[in-house]
Amino acid sequence: MDRLESHRAEMIAIGVAFVAVGVGTAYYYYLSKKPKRDRIVLKSVRIGGFDTFSCDIVGCLDPEKFKEFKLVKRIQLSHNVAKFKFALPTPTSVLGLPIGQHMSCRGKDANGEDVIKPYTPTTLDSDVGYFELVIKMYPQGRMSHHFREMREGDYLAVKGPKGRFKYQPGQVRAFGMLAGGTGITPMFQVARAILENPSDMTKIHLIYANVTYEDILLKEELDGFALDFPDRFSLYYVLNEPPEGWSSGVGFISKEMIQAQCPEPASDIRILRCGPPAMNKAMAAHLEALGYTSQMQFQF
Ligand SMILES: Cc1cc2nc3c(=O)[nH]c(=O)nc-3n(C[C@H](O)[C@H](O)[C@H](O)COP(=O)(O)OP(=O)(O)OC[C@H]3O[C@@H](n4cnc5c(N)ncnc54)[C@H](O)[C@@H]3O)c2cc1C
Repeated sequence: MDRLESHRAEMIAIGVAFVAVGVGTAYYYYLSKKPKRDRIVLKSVRIGGFDTFSCDIVGCLDPEKFKEFKLVKRIQLSHNVAKFKFALPTPTSVLGLPIGQHMSCRGKDANGEDVIKPYTPTTLDSDVGYFELVIKMYPQGRMSHHFREMREGDYLAVKGPKGRFKYQPGQVRAFGMLAGGTGITPMFQVARAILENPSDMTKIHLIYANVTYEDILLKEELDGFALDFPDRFSLYYVLNEPPEGWSSGVGFISKEMIQAQCPEPASDIRILRCGPPAMNKAMAAHLEALGYTSQMQFQF
């Protein structure tokens, strides 16, 4: 009888072990197949002056489908530039956009037709519960029309993350950045992430070109970086139509300006480019003539 009982107990134990291994294996496959954006993270969040830990889903974006975000604040920065603040689903949600990547935004042009264009927020995932876009609206621009018409309370359809560039601290020794007009936003995002990380020693050399002084976007923030991080961030403005007494660059970004401002060609540096198509083409030619290989360059 005793032997029968102990045999039964043995069989039950083996059965339980089989079930446990089965459940464990299934759970492992479930976790490994889950898209990354659904990972759970613990984040330190400052609420009411206290650091608290909140459990949050990494990322509100979906690379496969558009999701709607509510415009909660619109601030006009100049006659054709505005800052748009969008709420995330909860006050502790993070957007989940890797540094160096952008999002596709969908809207309607003046003829009511769908238009999709890339945009890079000026906020990072350390800005919890919201994200911001700084948008320049061109008179004839298709997506510009959509943003011009947007009012607080409206929703914007956004899909992402998108892009081939993903920044990791220590990836390079130094970045040269050649930005034109709204091409500053991807540079700003990377620069902010580097400078806000005290253990990231990457150096940044930014050349920023515009037509007029009034066209310079995020000027206060960029000047602040140059002032606060003189050893890590250098800034050189270039204007087509400079105001009287202008002491920085004039005309278009030249080979000589790149030589004077950017790190020399080397395997541990990268030159990032973002601007209107004509500028991107001219910059690629300058960089090639100066000996920067294609591995040393990236165009957003
Ligand atoms: C990675 C990436 C991130 C970007 N992030 C931002 C951002 O954060 N904020 C932002 O405002 N834009 C950003 N842009 C630019 C944005 O994607 C659109 O190109 C821009 O908003 C114009 O789109 P549109 O449909 O209004 O103009 P379109 O209909 O494409 O163009 C119509 C006319 O507008 C004028 N125009 C359009 N683009 C430019 C230009 N770059 N320079 C000069 N004139 C132009 C021209 O006259 C053009 O003929 C980004 C682009 C990239 C590639």
